Amino acid sequence: MTATHTLDAGVRSGTGIQISGVSKSFTLRGGRSLQALQNTDLHTEKGSFLALLGPSGCGKSTILRILAALDHPSDGTALVDGETPDQLRAKSELGIAFQDHALLPWRSIRKNIELPFEVAGRPVDKAYVDELIDLVGLRDFANAKPAQLSGGMRQRASIARALVLKPSVLLLDEPFGALDDMTRQNLNLELLRIWTEKPATTLLVTHGISEAIFLADRVAVMSPRPGRVKEIIEVDLPRPRTPEMMRTPEFHALVDRASELLFGADGHAEAEA
Ligand code: ADP
Ligand code: MG
Repeated sequence: MTATHTLDAGVRSGTGIQISGVSKSFTLRGGRSLQALQNTDLHTEKGSFLALLGPSGCGKSTILRILAALDHPSDGTALVDGETPDQLRAKSELGIAFQDHALLPWRSIRKNIELPFEVAGRPVDKAYVDELIDLVGLRDFANAKPAQLSGGMRQRASIARALVLKPSVLLLDEPFGALDDMTRQNLNLELLRIWTEKPATTLLVTHGISEAIFLADRVAVMSPRPGRVKEIIEVDLPRPRTPEMMRTPEFHALVDRASELLFGADGHAEAEA
């Protein structure tokens, strides 16, 4: 089945992320209003990995916040697998990791990763917590406090926390944005491994073009504010993806295409509307 067919199937069955005609304006101090999103459409199918690229301020985090039920559209609808973000959040089907790891400093790494069970009022699945701690390589630090860990380790802990309830939807907003390239590359590989084991419907905001193409089934490139999806790049690289693929001509062609969309053929970013 081609990617286009699966996309159509997703739209027809109403599964995956279905953002339709979403606008979002914010009222600024003094009563002026700022249009962050204007008539934005974005559709994916269940279990697919979508990366979102776009200039700073184009509304990427706004889209994620709407899907995370942390914000609501001014107009249009946002549904995931046929449910509203509020419904999904109530059922603890959303896993969220943002750039700021937001771990609770007074809790150990293990207790931080267990937190979603407490919030959901469910018994802690100790075996799965252990498995995730191993998977993100933090076994020796399970009882340490966040302050005792490096930035990369804290981000790994927050990814484990986002995954611990086996959510059907994963929302990641530049989760590795503040890290150095090496750590970032390793975490991307870990994320890929975890996602391959249990493919959640994933939306990853990133400013890394190669990272987006390496990880995703499809990359949405947004235009400057007010944000709209300018084009969707189908990433037809086979899975499992390996770091060697990043050196193939196919990979470079996709990176060039995304750069062109982002910066224009002349290498200059488009001006804000
Ligand atoms: P991105 O994540 O792509 O950098 P955002 O979604 O964070 O962009 O923001 C889009 C635009 O909306 C920006 O101009 C930002 O300043 C504005 N914005 C975001 N959140 C708010 C808010 N709560 N109040 C006012 N303006 C906001
Ligand atoms: Mg942002």
